[in-house]
Amino acid sequence: MTPQSQILLIPKIECGYVIDHIPAGLGIQVMALIGCHPELEAAVVTLGLNYKSTRMGRKDMIKLQTKSLPPRLLQMLALVSPGVTIKRIANYEVVEKVVIQVPELFDNLARCINPNCITNVEPHIGTRFKRLESGSRHFKCAHCERVCTLDELAGHLKA
Ligand SMILES: [Zn+2]
Repeated sequence: MTPQSQILLIPKIECGYVIDHIPAGLGIQVMALIGCHPELEAAVVTLGLNYKSTRMGRKDMIKLQTKSLPPRLLQMLALVSPGVTIKRIANYEVVEKVVIQVPELFDNLARCINPNCITNVEPHIGTRFKRLESGSRHFKCAHCERVCTLDELAGHLKA
């Protein structure tokens, strides 16, 4: 699919952000994350599902007409769908492009999968998960040392 025909399917926005290269099927989940951010309540949002992508086969894409993206949303994206591209749009052009990477640390984004962890017994205690090593998809709870995968943490997001 050429960029030209994509424009016909999902309209260009004058300014805002595009969350691109979302693996097909995850777009709805990313929409739900956007829905948890009151800062984006007034944003005009367009969801595109199942676009052909030379790199990925199929992909989902979300366009948001908003001045800024909440940092917590970007952290959640790093947990749920690392590898997505965030494009900042001004005057209909891409002015900045960032690929969301898996960070070394997740602070207070997900609950520990260990039910006996102090952070589950005393929910006011914030959670922290440290990456085992660079490139790994495994994280260790800073409180109980339970090792969780990225997918497990994504399934235990704090609201
Ligand atoms: Zn723990």
